[in-house]
Amino acid sequence: MAMKYPDIDNTNYFTNRALSNKEGEKTGKILMFREKGKEKFYLRMKCPYCGHMQEREEAFAKKPYRPVCEGCGKKVAIVKLKKQ
Ligand SMILES: [Zn+2]
Repeated sequence: MAMKYPDIDNTNYFTNRALSNKEGEKTGKILMFREKGKEKFYLRMKCPYCGHMQEREEAFAKKPYRPVCEGCGKKVAIVKLKKQ
């Protein structure tokens, strides 16, 4: 599937980051955003636990957003980034 990518000015949420597994290793990745006026987020994720690649649209009620991996069923919390 072709990579979907937004006009940044037209989003009210955007993240593109590495995801860590339980051991703290950065084994996963996520690109997730929501365009203004839309209820659903677009997300493309490599699960940090099982490596499953997935891409879908999904609505999340509240932060922290926790997409569930379609491969292993684990919740992947998208927590705030620590200050660098
Ligand atoms: Zn998984």
